[in-house]
Amino acid sequence: MGTGKGEDTESDPGSEFDEANDCLKCGLCCKIFGDRITPAPENLFSWMENGRGDILRFFMACLDDGRWVWCTELSPQDISEIRAVEMRDPSTGGYLPVCPFLRRIAKNRYICGVHAQKPEMCRNYQPWVWGETHFNRCPALKRKEESRWRRSLE
Ligand code: SF4
Ligand code: SF4
Repeated sequence: MGTGKGEDTESDPGSEFDEANDCLKCGLCCKIFGDRITPAPENLFSWMENGRGDILRFFMACLDDGRWVWCTELSPQDISEIRAVEMRDPSTGGYLPVCPFLRRIAKNRYICGVHAQKPEMCRNYQPWVWGETHFNRCPALKRKEESRWRRSLE
């Protein structure tokens, strides 16, 4: 997911969006895109160094020689040999229907269970910025757009 940084903020309704305060934590973006999250090499290194097998167990890596191996079986020295990483179900090896780190904490309220260690993709994702990552179903963005529209009519 791109960062969308450098967009024209004058014409961007999402430019007024402050993730920490405005995100409604509905979990919709994670539910829709979370099963396709892939970590950056820096994420893998950090998880390996910090003993985060609980995160690594959900990822498989394709190595230069074409083998697919579980990321729990790799060490930091192996990272440069990784061609691709995919999120997988550790019990079946198949694809997951939803990100396994998404936690429901109340009706319509979710948090990321690995927030402090979440992949760069998630950290940089900005659904409120026009461009590749713009997510028009984000309810917080809709709310912002409606309030902006109302203000423009005053
Ligand atoms: S890792 Fe966290 S932020 Fe990323 S998709 Fe999963 S729940 Fe959402
Ligand atoms: S869809 Fe929007 S409001 Fe919902 S969790 Fe994602 S950024 Fe927050």
